[in-house]
Amino acid sequence: MSEAPHLTFNIDAPGLSTGHLAVPKGTDCEALSIPVFSLNRGEGPRLLITGGNHGNELEGPIVARRLIEWLPEVQTCGRILIVPVLNPPAVRAWSRNTPVDGLNLNRMFPGRADGSVSERIADAVCRVLVPEADTVFDLHSMGPRWDSAPAVITHPIADADLMAKTLHLGESFKLPVTLLWEHDQTAGMFDTWVHSQGKVFICTEFGGGTVGFEDLKIYETGVRNGLIALGLIEETVDIPTYRQQKFSQTLETLLSDKVTSPAAGIFEPRCSVLQKVQQGDLIGKLHPMNSVSADSVDIRAPSNSIVCTIKSGAHVIVNEEVAIIARPLKR
Ligand SMILES: [Zn+2]
Repeated sequence: MSEAPHLTFNIDAPGLSTGHLAVPKGTDCEALSIPVFSLNRGEGPRLLITGGNHGNELEGPIVARRLIEWLPEVQTCGRILIVPVLNPPAVRAWSRNTPVDGLNLNRMFPGRADGSVSERIADAVCRVLVPEADTVFDLHSMGPRWDSAPAVITHPIADADLMAKTLHLGESFKLPVTLLWEHDQTAGMFDTWVHSQGKVFICTEFGGGTVGFEDLKIYETGVRNGLIALGLIEETVDIPTYRQQKFSQTLETLLSDKVTSPAAGIFEPRCSVLQKVQQGDLIGKLHPMNSVSADSVDIRAPSNSIVCTIKSGAHVIVNEEVAIIARPLKR
């Protein structure tokens, strides 16, 4: 085993300073040097902003880079660490999973020092970066196979106080949707581990197939609102305009809300993001490809709900999720 993961620079130097998170080499690849930006204005909140956890979600790295252009001028206190790309091999390959080991970095936390490259990145992040922060913003997007409303997403957290803090900060982004998402595969996720440390974790998700100019503006506005809520900048909150409307709502999706494909085939969406649907309404159609006589199959809403996210026309396997539906959160 070579050296331990570490930062190559003093993150407590005043103002903007830059260096790398050194991830040691392993048996599968050489050491990685991941660029890190520290914006230090002394006492105050300590925030870590990360992008590029999944390699085919490029809005996060772009927004993180944009923040570095203007944040040093307006930051009034605290320290912000920005890592635009957590997973450089995956971003280079435009791949959700890391190409070297085929693993999903966001299921590997807290990682392993002697593991494969995804596990070593997770280990370095957990041992070196997370202890330096009280709050984490991890910038994702749903990726090219989904159409999705700009959202802050959080999973249910057992600690009621941390759950309330997380929802409150999430809502301060003023994105169209803040979503409480009941999920059955949260083991190894970055948020699960940060929550276990008693820290607030905000995951932003965008969608729409490709990286778009308007979506980036909404994304950056949401993150800026989060920075205002933390007290790191003193600016005016701006509610972003999404599809000609300014609004934000807090929704909840349960495991029983999963809308999945009954068979393999091409999924055709038959409703739009943020559309209200009644139980039995058509959400999409599934076109099997294996038989010339096979009819298309209707996929219908299991309950009265709002469509948060829908597959944007993709070949899907049987039981693959094709839509995420939700309803206003009851508190
Ligand atoms: Zn992601």
